Amino acid sequence: MEIPSQLKVGPFVYQVKQVELVNKGKPELIGEVKHDVQKAILVDNSLDLDTKQSVFLHELIHCVDMFMRIGLEEKQVEQLEHGLYMVLKDNSLLKDW
Ligand SMILES: [Zn+2]
Repeated sequence: MEIPSQLKVGPFVYQVKQVELVNKGKPELIGEVKHDVQKAILVDNSLDLDTKQSVFLHELIHCVDMFMRIGLEEKQVEQLEHGLYMVLKDNSLLKDW
């Protein structure tokens, strides 16, 4: 899966940026999503491809959660990230993205 430069979620367009530092105040973060006016997904550019794809999927789930007003907890987002990533990877569905 190639990480796109933009992600459309309903009427919203998130700019996807691969950056050196995701959040200055929280240097341990490897991914983050901003739902404010400047919608953006930030992914640590030093990660290996597998982790990058998984982190991107995680932030994508946050976007869908926000748009659909599901109200997922962080732990549920992590579980969906790992479960979906596992199935996509195991069925070779990430290759052609
Ligand atoms: Zn999260």
